[in-house]
Amino acid sequence: MPEPASPRIPARYFDGHSGAVHEVLLWCEGEMLQIAGKTLMRQAPLRQVQWPERTRHGPRLAHLPGGGSVQALESAQWDDWVAQTGLGESLVVRAQQSWRWALLATALLLAVTLSAYRWGLPLASQAVTALIPGQVERQIGDTALAAMEGRLLGPSRLDPAQQAAIREGYARARGLRFPRGNAPGVSLQFRRSHMGPNAFALPGGTIVVTDELVQLLADRPDILLGVLGHETGHVHLRHGTRSLVQASVLGTVAALALGDVSTLLSTAPVLLGQMAYSRDFEREADNEAIAWLRASQIRPSVMATLFERLHATAGAQAHQGPTGPHADRDGTSTPLAQTLGIAFRSHPADAERIQRFQAADQPTVGFLPSSPAPSAAHP
Ligand SMILES: [Zn+2]
Repeated sequence: MPEPASPRIPARYFDGHSGAVHEVLLWCEGEMLQIAGKTLMRQAPLRQVQWPERTRHGPRLAHLPGGGSVQALESAQWDDWVAQTGLGESLVVRAQQSWRWALLATALLLAVTLSAYRWGLPLASQAVTALIPGQVERQIGDTALAAMEGRLLGPSRLDPAQQAAIREGYARARGLRFPRGNAPGVSLQFRRSHMGPNAFALPGGTIVVTDELVQLLADRPDILLGVLGHETGHVHLRHGTRSLVQASVLGTVAALALGDVSTLLSTAPVLLGQMAYSRDFEREADNEAIAWLRASQIRPSVMATLFERLHATAGAQAHQGPTGPHADRDGTSTPLAQTLGIAFRSHPADAERIQRFQAADQPTVGFLPSSPAPSAAHP
């Protein structure tokens, strides 16, 4: 007789060959599963019995070695019996049944997805960007600029001599920053703009500086160099193209795989108009601005003045009320700075950013006194 401690359960037995159903009793005895009916007696080593994953509403059954199976008459009774005898329930099945585990699994999945988004996507976009030829990048930049002409940008009204002086100062600072001649190819452009004092870099190396920014910094060419250094950083590190790829990573991969650049070209201006650089990209560009200013013997902290002035002009614009077709309805802040997320002025000038520029004065010695700037690129 079986040990009294082992509970018994009524079940159906199928021999696996015929369709015959046998009413049986199941119980465990040592390492064996015992199956006994009116006309049959069978046993099977417990370790060889397969217990299919239990689902909430599915039938309860077990497959026996060498064919045949036993099936529960009542699910709840079977579950109790399995629990009492400690059979069949793998950790996975128990985990699936437990909402705590389900919650934990969901949280883990979320963490993995977020990690992929935070670190995987930037890495993937960098890899894809490396595949995009410079010529395509320039085409993207040109297309985007063409889309902005007339709408956001107009021809510059700056004195050509002033433009030439800025270009000259830029070229000099660039030579100091990249003494080995490994500077990224940059095309400096001046435009009048509805965006007010601003600057931005496009894929392929076009940097657009607005007349309004030049006027705002007319007495501070040192700060203008800092802005140009920042934008050159975006060009050097291909932030525009990387952001584009990131924003349309699947489409871009598909388009490149098919050798179809036209899709990328047609969506780039729209995406470029909508997207903004990540904080990491901004930090990298600020690092470039710091390196750029240091190379020209200018204190990086001069950039704090820029943020003060931009803040003041934003206040003045709000006071005057918004103008122009793209003005904000509430008119509380820079009406048009938001129309181009990649532009300098759209980047938040938070305390952390300003502090980094100020702290960057410290590690290097030998700076000339701060404002007005020494190696000014101005006439
Ligand atoms: Zn930037």
